[in-house]
Amino acid sequence: MTEDERLAKNMRIREHGKLTRQKRKSQICRVYRVKIDISHLTKQQILHLKMLFVEAKWLYNNVLTFLTDHDITEYDSKTLTVQGLDKDGQPVTHELRYISSQMRQSVIQGLKDNMNSLVSLREHNRKTGRLRYKSDYGSIDLQQYRITYRFYDEEHVGIQGFSKPLKIKGANQFWNTPNLEFANAKLLNLPKGYYLAITTYQNKGCELKNYKPEIGIDMGITTTITTSDGQKIKVLVEESERLKKCQRLIARRKKGSNNRYKAVKLLRRAYQKLTSRKRDAANKIVHDLLEHERVYMQDENIKGWHKSLFGRTVQHSVLGLVKAKLMKSERVIVLPASAPTTKYCPVCGKLKRDITLADRVYECSCGYREDRDVHAARNMLLLSRNNTCGTQGINAYGEDIRRLQPEGLSRSLVELGSPTSEVRVVHSRLSKATDTERINFS
Ligand SMILES: [Zn+2]
Repeated sequence: MTEDERLAKNMRIREHGKLTRQKRKSQICRVYRVKIDISHLTKQQILHLKMLFVEAKWLYNNVLTFLTDHDITEYDSKTLTVQGLDKDGQPVTHELRYISSQMRQSVIQGLKDNMNSLVSLREHNRKTGRLRYKSDYGSIDLQQYRITYRFYDEEHVGIQGFSKPLKIKGANQFWNTPNLEFANAKLLNLPKGYYLAITTYQNKGCELKNYKPEIGIDMGITTTITTSDGQKIKVLVEESERLKKCQRLIARRKKGSNNRYKAVKLLRRAYQKLTSRKRDAANKIVHDLLEHERVYMQDENIKGWHKSLFGRTVQHSVLGLVKAKLMKSERVIVLPASAPTTKYCPVCGKLKRDITLADRVYECSCGYREDRDVHAARNMLLLSRNNTCGTQGINAYGEDIRRLQPEGLSRSLVELGSPTSEVRVVHSRLSKATDTERINFS
């Protein structure tokens, strides 16, 4: 390729990138995960999948060694042999047979990205460690759809280097979505098997629907989520017996033994299951909440709860996940932690300063009385609308909520109606996960 051709090619890539970025602005990005069904694969194909991650690890560690006395730009990414150490610490030469050139590049790029993030952390005077050798490589980037991977049909996906398509499960999540575009993907090596995490884009506006009215939500420890219409959603994903059993098993096994390694593998599988169940519960809750036109929540410090007295309960709850998912939506408005959602009395407007965490019912000297969490959730609607007590809010996109509300528009308690006093318990074990019981607030 001559110099002119090379420059022309670079130009084309740049122009194309610009167009894509422009297009992405009007699209929604979603990542779906599908599982690779290895039950019909030949031994050779299973070995191939396994070796991709082993070779990626070899390459990563090799580049890391190279970096101790060289610059990363000097590394020859075309090399097909890497140096490493075997179990006893003796130097060995590994041959890279399975990993494709695009995958090799993405491993090196991943290392570059890690270095850059360390550098930028250091520039901001943050404490940093250093890059370490990996004993497992968990994810391989498949950068380009149609080149490193492609769909043949709903059940078959081709991956660069494999002679035959691989069978997958779970593409029904997105297969019938109109105008879906596939972008990059990641091949994941998780405790329960191999997965593909596929980044997709779809046009905004496909999801316009009739929303329910605005809602305020309060996140607590005992009831988890309380909405301004009086619903309490209680979620607890508990550690399974199996998980506890695995932990005991590991404790009994000798360090460094093969049996211990097997037990660790079992434990990792149990943890993956727990995480999936948490994510499932969180998805269900977020889906329900986002049926409302606007969701008001407060920027509460869940991490802080984690550290203090509530550690264990919060760890098992799904609150953090729900919060993170909600914050991504542009219809969610976040009030700052300083907004007095608990203290403010919506009837007389006074602030009750002596309310403690133990008080489950809010009682004001003016006679107003309400369940503490419902009270807080309803106050989020009131405070964000009325902009009382100097409350300012920003939503997920950094918009000041005062901009979203015309001055003088206010809302009264009467407008909100009375709460319905309903508790919905979302158990992780139930697949439908809804169970309604009535409670009495006063
Ligand atoms: Zn009052």
